[in-house]
Amino acid sequence: MDNITEAEIKEKFRSAKNRLVLLDYDGTLVNHTPLPETAILPEHMSDIIIKLVDNPQTKIFIITGRGRSDIDKFLDHIPINIIAEHGAMIKLEGVWKNQIINNFSWKKAILPVLKQITDACPESYVEEKYFSLAWHYRNVDADLGYSCSRELIHLLKGIIHSYNLRILDGNKVVEILTNETGKGSAVKKLFEQQAYDFVLSIGDDATDEEMFEFFLNHQNAFTVKVGTGPTHARYRLKSINEVASLLNKLSG
Ligand SMILES: [Mg+2]
Repeated sequence: MDNITEAEIKEKFRSAKNRLVLLDYDGTLVNHTPLPETAILPEHMSDIIIKLVDNPQTKIFIITGRGRSDIDKFLDHIPINIIAEHGAMIKLEGVWKNQIINNFSWKKAILPVLKQITDACPESYVEEKYFSLAWHYRNVDADLGYSCSRELIHLLKGIIHSYNLRILDGNKVVEILTNETGKGSAVKKLFEQQAYDFVLSIGDDATDEEMFEFFLNHQNAFTVKVGTGPTHARYRLKSINEVASLLNKLSG
């Protein structure tokens, strides 16, 4: 992102009456870490977000795939709205609500497949969230992890349709969730409730692409991909430091 674009975003932010800021957590505000529980929000990023939250006429959401207690641990000190588990849960003004109704019978069918892959792929592990299951391979040898993940997706494809599930092929994680869940549908719901004349949406992973796609036809939406790789986002930032710099300019 060049200086002209940054200046344009800042100007549009200033003149807007109803702003929406959607920030992914891991890989966007915090670098990915080998142990997810150590991905603490850096102090300078925390300070910037606290300033942004204080901004009137601005609604800010952290929008993440993490489970609710997991993300709460990192953000407990900030009165911020959170969308967790890829849209399945939302925290508004301090109160958590489920956004979907689920029956959990599908987990019984999926867990043995995840166990089978975990056995074949040392250092990988399964995370059970309330509405989803995730298989993480960040700590696995890169080639082995990748080939195990392809095998897992192949196995899952034979099962998911009978349970109305979908697979998210993320950054070192394969996640299984219901079809109604996703950052795209979460953002759509927000727009059905209120109109916004400025949107900033930042993320780094496959799940954020659904957000970016949703905003393709929104003129006042600035979508930003962090890092390399193909994207539907209009702009790109190289690192979380650049994210901090952009957010800092808006918060000032
Ligand atoms: Mg991310």
